[in-house]
Amino acid sequence: MRRTVLFRLDDICPSMNAQNFQRIQDLFHKYDIKPLLGIVPENKDEKLNYGEMDSDFWKTIKILEKEGWSLAMHGVNHVYDSKDAGLVSGRKKSEFSGHGYNKQYNKISIGKKILNGHGIDTNIFFAPGHSYDTNTIKALYKNGFRFISDGRSHDCYEKDGIRFIPCRKYGYDSSSSGIITICLHINSYSEKEFVELETFILANKAEIIAYSEILKREIKSSKYLMLLDEKLYVFYERNIRYAVSPYYQRLKKRIERGGKMPWKNR
Ligand SMILES: [Zn+2]
Repeated sequence: MRRTVLFRLDDICPSMNAQNFQRIQDLFHKYDIKPLLGIVPENKDEKLNYGEMDSDFWKTIKILEKEGWSLAMHGVNHVYDSKDAGLVSGRKKSEFSGHGYNKQYNKISIGKKILNGHGIDTNIFFAPGHSYDTNTIKALYKNGFRFISDGRSHDCYEKDGIRFIPCRKYGYDSSSSGIITICLHINSYSEKEFVELETFILANKAEIIAYSEILKREIKSSKYLMLLDEKLYVFYERNIRYAVSPYYQRLKKRIERGGKMPWKNR
């Protein structure tokens, strides 16, 4: 399967780090990259407050949309009020997953109305913390959403009227095949991260496509194979990688305390 690289910018809202938002626009303009912007309709997450509310924020978003950037609704308030991991995440925290259908439907509908009020009409969604469940998917469909930027398969698949565009790993994914979504959380970026990003862009330039292109690309992989692919990945993340991880944490603590590694105890 051909390797394809997509960019996604998470946590976009009027109180975000405006300086970094400008810097990423300059960088993406330089390399003609058209990412997906994950906009939080009504942010209530204090961790996303980096400065003054930008009064030109919504105007900027409309300009970027005209330039070919794609827009998604990224949650509604970005506040985790449920301890549920959902279908694909390994972390038990969510804004949606675990809540009943009606609650999720109403929340999504409020978010959509807020975006509409700013002149934004999108049918792409992704949940904070990669956490969504079957009720989220149903509620999204009923609210007119047709794409989710998430899932752990190598290629897109369509299920319950929604196309899932995978987002397998955190950080820079060096996988040799499949669809790779690089999620950037630019609010906390310093010089070092911007340099890393530019290095990655230069090394992967030939495989980067505009996010809008993946929405219309014909899916050639089998849906059932992709669902199995996702299940295996989630199983690995939840049962193997996480099971191994506490062992490494103990080792790390031991090193920090100045102890020797077990294999150096001779
Ligand atoms: Zn987020």
